[in-house]
Amino acid sequence: MRRARGYAPFATSPAQDALLDRVLEAARRAGPGDLAVLDLDGCLFDTRPRQVAVLRRIASREGWTWPARVEPEHILDWDLRATLRRAGAPEAWLEARYDALRRAWFDGFFADDAPLLDHPMPGAARLVRALARHLGLVYLSGRHEGNRAATLRALALAGFPGPEGGARLVLQPGRGTDYAAWKRQALDRIEGWGRPALFLDNEPDNVNLFRERYPEALVVFVETDHSARPVEPAAGIPWLRGFLRTGDVAG
Ligand SMILES: [Mg+2]
Repeated sequence: MRRARGYAPFATSPAQDALLDRVLEAARRAGPGDLAVLDLDGCLFDTRPRQVAVLRRIASREGWTWPARVEPEHILDWDLRATLRRAGAPEAWLEARYDALRRAWFDGFFADDAPLLDHPMPGAARLVRALARHLGLVYLSGRHEGNRAATLRALALAGFPGPEGGARLVLQPGRGTDYAAWKRQALDRIEGWGRPALFLDNEPDNVNLFRERYPEALVVFVETDHSARPVEPAAGIPWLRGFLRTGDVAG
């Protein structure tokens, strides 16, 4: 099964240039009121700095060292145990501490202001600003409503169009929401605003749902990290590694 290879924010290739052109072309062809539906975590934002910061805070509080040794390069997916193993944590340490670490990680990662720790993906804001000339923007994220203020601040600080230009931000009501049911309801709500013409997302489950529900939209799988579920993006969905172009290397 083909899985995402992890973040590569500075990767460029002629194929990536062509796919970014295809995304812009889809925006130019869109009709009035059409929408771009854009994911945040693992898509427009690199969440590895948030994970590293959260793990270092936990290590500092608890007097542990292994979580403090995690670097962004150790994070290839959402399997925290595998991340700690890549950072060198011994099995015996993981056996004794993993459950407590996982709980503390969850609280830290989903804390209200935690999204301010993320790094924007290079080139993503430029693309989204270009999309905004042709499409309405909807940021659709599994983050919860408690993250709203920090998310809007993080978008503004990184140069993404915000609500002042009409962009909408759709978040889960709370942390314990039934994710699949919420996602369907969110799409019902989005359809009330316009026709989704473009999707960018890093979860195979999500891109497959979008593709099934909106066969005429351009659905792009952003290859960063994703859940450990054994799901592959459907055949025909293009994979995007990052948002930079080959001509950007000197910039
Ligand atoms: Mg995501």
